[in-house]
Amino acid sequence: MSLARIIQNGYLSNLEAGLLDRLLPLLRRIELRSKTVVQRMGAPITHVLFPCSGAISLTTSAGGASIQCAVIGREGILGGWIANESVRSPYHAIVRIEGFGLELPMAEFCRATATSHELRGQVARENYLQMAAMSQIVACHAKHSTEQRMCRWLLEYEDRNSDRPIVIKQEEFADMLGVQRTTVTLLVGRLQGVGAVEWRRGRLRILHRDVVQSRACACCRSRSLLTAGLPDQNAAGLTSSSFTATVPPNFSVTSSPVIQHGV
Ligand SMILES: [Zn+2]
Repeated sequence: MSLARIIQNGYLSNLEAGLLDRLLPLLRRIELRSKTVVQRMGAPITHVLFPCSGAISLTTSAGGASIQCAVIGREGILGGWIANESVRSPYHAIVRIEGFGLELPMAEFCRATATSHELRGQVARENYLQMAAMSQIVACHAKHSTEQRMCRWLLEYEDRNSDRPIVIKQEEFADMLGVQRTTVTLLVGRLQGVGAVEWRRGRLRILHRDVVQSRACACCRSRSLLTAGLPDQNAAGLTSSSFTATVPPNFSVTSSPVIQHGV
């Protein structure tokens, strides 16, 4: 089995073998624990992160709330929209579904990007996808109901890791959607009433995806449409089975302390 096949991250597994060989010794495995802040808005991006399982929420501030604008999982990269050591994060990135990932110092990512045409292409690709995704989110907030948006986010999380719960409190969910807690109570209550979701002690699971899907807007499907014409479609395939094998426990060069705690 090739190295690319044992990497569970879509971005990495789609790199050419020579480039992946260069990057692998530089990667460090980190545990993504629930509510860990992996990038803080306004702080320098010191590492790029390749999630291998779990899901990370990207939020931005508006009127005192932390509105969710993207979810990243094993299909992608966090912080790889630009190769620049002095750039600061435009997002607050927090783990919502626990898992693990592989991190690479930004300095190494910059060095690799400077000498790799393929990696420069990947950075441009991520730029394009992020711009397109954010544009879609703006349109979604303007046109779709809170219930539609809430269900869309639930599906986005489930697409990335369906066997673990989303760790989120009621007030955090309301904050992410930009609504009152009572609205979240009402809308999640409706889903619970028909057995579509379960929410206990801040852990939310989808029990019947079809019900949630029937109440969601179609915005979550936009990314897959956007990547249809790009060269490495698997890198964005959220449900792709192309990277389902397991990273060996001894794969990591070193184990990392948890990055930063607190919201
Ligand atoms: Zn929408």
